[in-house]
Amino acid sequence: MEIFQSMQEMEHEQLVFCYDSVSGLKAIIGIHDTTLGPALGGTRMWPYETEEEAIIDVLRLSKGMTYKSAAMGLNLGGGKGVIIADPRRDKSEALWRAYGRFVDSLGGRYITAEDVGVSPDDIDIVNDETDFVAGLWHKSGDPSPVTAYGTFVGIRAAMQYLEGSADLTGVVVEVQGVGSVGYALCEHLHEAGAKLLVADIYEDKLNQVVEDFGAEVVDPDSIHAAECDVYAPCALGATVNDDSIPELRCRVVAGAANNQLAETRHGQVLREKGILYAPDFVINGGGVINVAQEFNPSGYNRDLALKKVETIGEKLLDIFEASEAEDIPTNEAAERLAEKRIRSVGSIQRIRT
Ligand code: NAD
Repeated sequence: MEIFQSMQEMEHEQLVFCYDSVSGLKAIIGIHDTTLGPALGGTRMWPYETEEEAIIDVLRLSKGMTYKSAAMGLNLGGGKGVIIADPRRDKSEALWRAYGRFVDSLGGRYITAEDVGVSPDDIDIVNDETDFVAGLWHKSGDPSPVTAYGTFVGIRAAMQYLEGSADLTGVVVEVQGVGSVGYALCEHLHEAGAKLLVADIYEDKLNQVVEDFGAEVVDPDSIHAAECDVYAPCALGATVNDDSIPELRCRVVAGAANNQLAETRHGQVLREKGILYAPDFVINGGGVINVAQEFNPSGYNRDLALKKVETIGEKLLDIFEASEAEDIPTNEAAERLAEKRIRSVGSIQRIRT
C-alpha cells in the first residue's frame, strides 16, 4: 500500500504509528483535518488480520469524523485511533497507559474517546497519562446511548420522509450488531412499537435483546437479506457493498455503524434500487455531540446534548430533500453540506484578530 498516496487522496494531515514492546501496543492514530478544531474521534480495538486493513480503517474512520463534526455543527476536526488487538484478550493497564502517552505526545491535536472494543473504563486508564480524552464516566460518560438515541431519531425521520409519519408501530427493523449502540437502539425501537430482527456474533448479547425486547434472532451472515422496512447496521463498516446490495430487501438503510458504504458509489447504487440511505456520519452523530458538550465552558449538560441530538432528524430531512432536488445520492448531499461548512468557517481564519 502507498501510504502517502492514500493520505493525499483522502486529504489526511497526519498518520501516527505507535508501538510499545512491553505491553504489545500496536496503534495507529489518523488525523484527517483540523480546520474546524482539534481532531476528535474514538479509538477502536480490533484484531485486524493485516496492518493494511488497520491503516485503511483508520484513514476512513478519521475522515468520517471530519465530516461528522462538520455536519453536526461542532468546532472539531476529524481523527480516530485503531489498536491492533483482540478486545476480549489483549487489554492491560500498561497497554492503555502506553497509548495515553502517545495521545499526549500529540499535544491536543487529537482527542480520543471510546469506540468498538473500547469502554469508558479503558479510557479512564488512558486519562492517567493524558488530558486529551473525552467520554469519561465523571463527565459525559459512554456516548453509545446518545448515539443510539440519535440513530432512533434518524430512523423516525427516514420513515417520516417516506411515509409522512414517524410512527414506528409495527415497522420491522433489523439491527446488525447489538453491542453498546445496537442494544440501546433496540430499547428505543421496542418502546416505539417496532418489530426487531437482530444478529450478533456473540450469543450472550443476542440473548439479552431477546429477553429484554422480544427480538427475533437472524443469522449474522444473512441479516442484511431479511425482509424488513429498515436495515440498521450497528456493527462494523462496509456492510453495504456489491455483494450485499442485490440481496437487500429493505426500504431504508439507517444505522449507527461508521462507513457503512464499502465505496462512495454504493450510495448511488442504493438510490437506483429505491432504498433511502441515511448517511452514517449524520445519523450516528449523537455520540460526538454528547462528547463535545464536555468542552462547553459551562460544563457538560446532558439535556442540552440531547436537544442537539434531536436536530439530527431535521438535518436528515434536509439532506433527503437536497438529494431529491439536486438528483444526487444522499451520501453526496451530506458530504456537500459538511464540506461547505468546513470551507466557509475555515475561510474566516484569514481574518487576523
Ligand atoms: P460494540 O463493540 O459495543 O458493538 C458492536 C457489536 O457488533 C458487538 O456486539 C459485536 O459482537 C457485533 N458484531 C461484530 N461483527 C459482527 C457481525 N459480522 N455481525 C453481527 N454483529 C457483529 O460497538 P458500538 O460502540 O456499539 O459501535 C457500533 C458501531 O457504531 C461501530 O461501527 C461504531 O464505529 C459506530 N459508532 C459508535 C458510536 C458510539 O457512541 N459508540 C458512535 C458513532 C458510531
